[in-house]
Amino acid sequence: MIRYSIRPGNWRDKVAAESRDWLDTAAARTARFRVLGKYDEESSIWSRIKRVYMELQGYKCGFCERRLEKSQFGNIEHDVEHFRPKKSVKVWPTSTQRRDRSITVDQELSLNLGGAADPGYFWLAYHIENYLISCKTCNSTLKSNSFPIARNRRQADDGSDSPRQLKNEKPYLIYPIGAVDTDPERLIRFEGIVPVPIATRGHAHARARVTIDFFELDTREVLLEERAETILALHVALASMDDEDDATAAAAHLLVDRLPADDAAHANCARCHRELADEDPERANSFARAAIAYLRGLSGA
Ligand SMILES: [Zn+2]
Repeated sequence: MIRYSIRPGNWRDKVAAESRDWLDTAAARTARFRVLGKYDEESSIWSRIKRVYMELQGYKCGFCERRLEKSQFGNIEHDVEHFRPKKSVKVWPTSTQRRDRSITVDQELSLNLGGAADPGYFWLAYHIENYLISCKTCNSTLKSNSFPIARNRRQADDGSDSPRQLKNEKPYLIYPIGAVDTDPERLIRFEGIVPVPIATRGHAHARARVTIDFFELDTREVLLEERAETILALHVALASMDDEDDATAAAAHLLVDRLPADDAAHANCARCHRELADEDPERANSFARAAIAYLRGLSGA
């Protein structure tokens, strides 16, 4: 994960530019949910501002950093994800998830992940700081309506809560847009193709571990495969920047700039590898060799 920077005023401006009445309509709907005490409506309007988030996140999933379709077809691939569920919150992990996915992070770290909640965060159904774009695997399959937290969950709306004001819930999942939450790159780094917590203990460590386990960031084959390809492309590019062939050197410079950019897939992984190549070339070499072994293992070569 990485952070996608934007200022609050600019964020609202982009939403208003995409859909002129959206903020007013959102405020009216939120006021109605507050009266009802739950999320309840015939049809939603958040997809009208989906492109704001698609562009902001460089057409990537905010959780797993996979690249998604960029053209008009992207509307289908990208899901507008409610970070805090607008309807009832489900327990995570369920006993089935615990059994099928071998999730033990809460037991290992003695965490209380917060229970289920009904009616959920209905007053944030139309809060622009409660949205991000994610792929269908992260959103529908893995996250669904879960939102594990370390402290007490806000059940009722006092009329003033925004995602920023709910920090005392101590969420485990990380929100990547703007300065709403801690920068994900201060919580999760990469050793080769594998994400690891930066902090060695405390809530920062637990957040990273839960996020990695929750979205299976360290075991999903497509992520490991794409990251291995990214690392190897970067590795070869870093070694070819002074190549005597102009085209090769130009290609190398382009890749060294492009692969770690915000809108490149797996930018956190690429940045960690680029940094390591400067600081500890031997270790970077060992990660490149591991990436080769991983890809050879996949192809059976
Ligand atoms: Zn994803």
